Amino acid sequence: MLAPLFPVIAMHEADNVAIVVTDGGLKSGDIVHKNALAEPVTLVNAVPQGHKVALVDISAGQIVLRYNVSIGVAKENIAAGSWVHERLLAMPAARNFENLPMATAKKEPFKKLEGFTFQGYRNSDGSVGTRNILAVTTTVQCVAGVVELAVQKIKEELLPLYPHVDDVVGIEHTYGCGVAIDAPDAIIPIRTLRNISLNPNFGNEVFVVSLGCEKLPPLRLLPPGSFPLLSTQNESEGPHTVCLQDAHHVGFMSMLENIVQSAKPHLERLNARRRETVPASELVVGVQCGGSDAFSGVTANPIVGFASDLLVRSGATVMFSENTEVRDAIEQLTHRAQSIDVANSIVRELSWYDQYLERGHADRSANTTPGNKAGGLSNIVEKAMGSIVKSGSLPIQHVLSPGEKLKSNQKGLVFAATPASDFICGTLQLAAGMNVHVFTTGRGTPYGLQACPVVKLATRTDLAKRWHDLMDLNAGRVADGDITIEEGGWELFKLLLNVASGQKTWAEHWKLHNAMVLFNPAPIT
Ligand code: CA
Repeated sequence: MLAPLFPVIAMHEADNVAIVVTDGGLKSGDIVHKNALAEPVTLVNAVPQGHKVALVDISAGQIVLRYNVSIGVAKENIAAGSWVHERLLAMPAARNFENLPMATAKKEPFKKLEGFTFQGYRNSDGSVGTRNILAVTTTVQCVAGVVELAVQKIKEELLPLYPHVDDVVGIEHTYGCGVAIDAPDAIIPIRTLRNISLNPNFGNEVFVVSLGCEKLPPLRLLPPGSFPLLSTQNESEGPHTVCLQDAHHVGFMSMLENIVQSAKPHLERLNARRRETVPASELVVGVQCGGSDAFSGVTANPIVGFASDLLVRSGATVMFSENTEVRDAIEQLTHRAQSIDVANSIVRELSWYDQYLERGHADRSANTTPGNKAGGLSNIVEKAMGSIVKSGSLPIQHVLSPGEKLKSNQKGLVFAATPASDFICGTLQLAAGMNVHVFTTGRGTPYGLQACPVVKLATRTDLAKRWHDLMDLNAGRVADGDITIEEGGWELFKLLLNVASGQKTWAEHWKLHNAMVLFNPAPIT
């Protein structure tokens, strides 16, 4: 009987490594081939699932190619059929910022997609929410305990009276006092908080709880002109605020009750709203990955990339982020920029981030986790090549600095510069105006956000089966040969329209959500 041939996936014809797709990995002596035409290779060691096998003999000093990109230099001779693990690879240096190809990609007019819609909530500022949530913004961590109890009370006592309001969210954070508020980089956490209060899923109802003596008072957080005014408001008074230190608060119950009562007019206005049919162009989709493995760049991220192109072709906005995971692909990014200005902005953000990391005596290599490595990702270069695929293939039209909000005319593909940390990236994408979040994972994470639905894609069928009530889409079917990337991309695109219209994700079903975490590169005092 003939020995079975196990499939391995190479990302490019020129690659000298491919990854093992078989559940549980393969053992020494197993025979693999990357396609029917390729020469079979016999494994000389066991190779875990998701890890790389050498397709040919690779000499010491030779480049190891995946995605047709150098992911490192072989430290020793590697025989065909060997497990190419991270210890055999010397990581290449980061590309410097000189002589990058700036906006050099040929701009092909792309075919517009018409006729796709979802059911959303139109806001007075022109944005569209996918959820109808009351946010209680806070100026400082000191009020977090009181706000938590107030939100609980609002949910128990008031929310049943306002059935068209989905949820109440207290925007808690560790900022607001004890910080160098005038340091140049303090603008990042401040504008992040401001812009989160204005997220489309909060219906333009700005409601603030402050302490009274903090460094970030309500008028500094939300100065006149920075938020949509309610008909009853005078601009110079700033946002509608409950201040805990106000003299009329006598005892804890009085401040708690004041917050609860003050929420009522906001809940009434939110409750009067109904979903209406809006074009798919009103979607603002933030994409990111977390708990990645070598399948991320093979199954889930390519599906997200395909869906990203569909969204952009529909006139929607797609943000990709995660500075340390795109740094090694800088040439591809500046090449794909719509204009020299956009390419320069990409360089500005990534060079600023290099300097930020240098201040902490770190670099992009600090990104990869033990789980990434166990999942077959040798280093940040390999991870970045798989991560960047989420951005699809169309030109990059805009760049946002951390915490900035998209302007209404900024549509299409956007690079929103953020750290790769799941919680910080998600928080900054919320500030940018995200109304649906897409998250790919290979190792598995129950990640969720309270302010915005998170659609999670599993990179492998094994994970999708084990976490059947946490993962919203199984991208592992691509590796199984059951669907194409194109089919998966359309499936995700349609799922996003349904979720935007109110269909619950698994994270919403279980009410799983992570904390919003501010990015504060400025000093603490
Ligand atoms: Ca991430």
